[in-house]
Amino acid sequence: MRYVSTRGTAPTLDFAGATLAGLAADGGLYVPDAWPTLSEAEIAALAGRSYAETAAAVMAPFVAGSLSESELRALCDTAYGRFAHDAVTPLVQLDHDQWLLELFHGPTLAFKDVALQLLGLLFERFLNGTTEHLTIIGATSGDTGSAAIDAVAGRAGIDIFMLHPEGRVSEVQRRQMTTVGAPNVHNIAIRGDFDTAQALVKAMFNDAAFAARFRLSAVNSINWARLMAQVVYYFYAAVRLGAPARAVAFSVPTGNFGDVFAGYVAARMGLPVAKLVVATNVNDILARALTTGDYSSREVVPTATPSMDIQVSSNFERLLYDLGGRDGAALAAQMRGFEAERAMRLSNAQAEGAAGLLVGERVDPDAMAMAMRHACERHGQVIDPHTAIALAAARRHLAPDVPMVTLATAHPAKFGDAVERATGVRPSLPARVGDLFEREERCVTLDATYAAVSAHVAAHAVPRG
Ligand SMILES: *Cc1c(COP(=O)(O)O)cnc(C)c1O
Repeated sequence: MRYVSTRGTAPTLDFAGATLAGLAADGGLYVPDAWPTLSEAEIAALAGRSYAETAAAVMAPFVAGSLSESELRALCDTAYGRFAHDAVTPLVQLDHDQWLLELFHGPTLAFKDVALQLLGLLFERFLNGTTEHLTIIGATSGDTGSAAIDAVAGRAGIDIFMLHPEGRVSEVQRRQMTTVGAPNVHNIAIRGDFDTAQALVKAMFNDAAFAARFRLSAVNSINWARLMAQVVYYFYAAVRLGAPARAVAFSVPTGNFGDVFAGYVAARMGLPVAKLVVATNVNDILARALTTGDYSSREVVPTATPSMDIQVSSNFERLLYDLGGRDGAALAAQMRGFEAERAMRLSNAQAEGAAGLLVGERVDPDAMAMAMRHACERHGQVIDPHTAIALAAARRHLAPDVPMVTLATAHPAKFGDAVERATGVRPSLPARVGDLFEREERCVTLDATYAAVSAHVAAHAVPRG
């Protein structure tokens, strides 16, 4: 399998190259040069298979040329062996035709573990036998940072520097990052907000001298391998609900458009997906883009669903590229326009292509709180605020005879205050997080200046050999 950049000029890479690179050199994102498909018989044959078996079958075409099938299977067994539920991503039935797909049984209690547990192993595997040393730099509003740190802590050949906005992540999220003792983990609290932290990370990637000294890589959802790993649970869930004989709909709480893009990929691969509900909070750029074609960025409003407080969804570029006829030059021009104006319109081809499958829904804070209360009182399910946004959006798109699956992206205890405010129930942390509140924290706090942050990274990272 070869990977091409959405902006058309970066070198074409194999799976290993695309995984280690993260972002493409022309500023675009890597996508497979064609979508592999599974036949109806191949999808039917997934019935009854374990999560790791399903994962190996769904991902095999994407890693061809970089990993053998047995290597892939072994990595899946290791990655998914760390989940607290035997089904890895179990389905919970809410009523006759509605389901929750619980994606939070990994070590750090959010769906990002599903992809990052595998990504950590892929990095290690692709560095093995080389003298390369990887410097992972990322910014997090909470969940990506904890999942990425857990996934690479203690791995050879890798250092991770994770920036978070000081005081703006929950205590559970912060402690999940700062109490990991491994010497290759470097936490940096930034005196600024998430966008500032993210801008500092981008500046390090764009600093040619800095990037020449260190082999930089990314773990946010611009990394193709993460999206690939998320395609799996769409197949796993749909097959359990009757696919390929029946079509299944999904509702996805969306921020950077990574998780829901994985659902789009599943549909392109042949999974009968009736609908993908793109659920947003009041930061509704995606809901607007999909309903009116207006993709324009506004000020980010902080909400009880911080992982969705985004006004530029990186992975939307992958959708626009695919729906726009895979024309890298045209997409590069469109994205340059967006970067200059903070606004653009979808082309007719993009809008019409999306309309068949994707539907945007904005859910305001009252509807979110009501969905949490309703799930608690009617179904006995305590759900997190992100999941509640998707569940409220799902209810607006129920159709006869189509099972509706809402993706449950975080354990409610990760956002315990918001859950308690809405439901009166204080969700307790699962035993697997152990003595999180007793462990010692390790973190430096830096001013939000490029000089301070780049000097700190340079002092602790390993230069290219
Ligand atoms: C990251 C995250 C999301 C948003 O996922 P995207 O792939 O960025 O769209 C939703 N819910 C939770 C709990 C998250 O951590």
